[in-house]
Amino acid sequence: MASVISGKEVSAKVRAEVREECERLKEKGVTPGLAVIIVGDDPASRVYVNNKKKACAEVGFASEEYALPAETTQQELLALIDTLNKKPEINGILCQLPLPKHLDETAVIHAISPEKDVDAFHPSNVGKIMIGDYDFLPCTPAGVMELIHFAGIEVSGKNCVVIGRSNIVGKPMAMLLLHENGTVTICHSKTKDLKEICAGADILVAAVGRPKFVKADMVKEGAVVLDVGINRDENGKLCGDVDYEQVEPKASFITPVPGGVGPMTIAMLMKNTLKAAKLQNHIESV
Ligand code: NDP
Repeated sequence: MASVISGKEVSAKVRAEVREECERLKEKGVTPGLAVIIVGDDPASRVYVNNKKKACAEVGFASEEYALPAETTQQELLALIDTLNKKPEINGILCQLPLPKHLDETAVIHAISPEKDVDAFHPSNVGKIMIGDYDFLPCTPAGVMELIHFAGIEVSGKNCVVIGRSNIVGKPMAMLLLHENGTVTICHSKTKDLKEICAGADILVAAVGRPKFVKADMVKEGAVVLDVGINRDENGKLCGDVDYEQVEPKASFITPVPGGVGPMTIAMLMKNTLKAAKLQNHIESV
């Protein structure tokens, strides 16, 4: 039976630490500020944006929401980002993805000032992560690492397999495991012998976007299994990329869905925004 790593518990701890630091920053006259842009009325994006605003209020940040209509032009969106880049009380800017089809996501990511890019999607921040000398880490992979650290799991020398190679999860996830001296394999839809590769993993991270994709025969006895997926099963119930019922008895540690990696993402966003506020105000420690 696996130990369940609770993202609820770890994210609450991270948010409490951020709240404490925020209080001390406020004593120095700085209130961290996050601007959240949402374009259109995608219901999932609306839920994410509301949760981000709620988290800001909880840790003591100021937050500004910019809800733009679906027909917003690229020019209008870039003009707003330009204004926010120049606004001193805003330390972090995030534009909720996906954007409506007529908008160019890459151009939007490039337009956000790297100093305010608390999602760490800007090429300049991505490059810094590659080098291992960074200010911000992308929130979801950083959240997975936080869970690994909290559980006291040693990455060094372990066989780590990441299923998924997206720019926001899979690729940076692999890089962070590599930084901690894991021996990392990245799998994707063209990978041959996926089952065998996964079954060799000491640490398996699933970021596939397919409900219950990872079955028991893909998991080594005693493996650490981290499930990034947020999907709906055939009954419309929230589930991960891992078939939890099958895999849990074989794993040594596992993250549930919901209540695993999900809550970590927003907690790490708070951490990045706090860091952005400190960097922009030249405050090293509080
Ligand atoms: P993407 O769709 O961008 O990437 C999915 C990856 O999985 C791709 O690299 C794809 O390969 C790979 N893949 C798809 N099918 C297979 C297959 N049959 N075998 C092997 N690899 C496969 O998804 P994201 O990275 O954005 O997200 C992954 C999951 O994580 C989703 O469920 C998403 O909802 C969730 N998520 C959760 C977050 C959280 O806060 N917990 C935050 C972000 C995402 P290829 O590149 O070849 O197409």
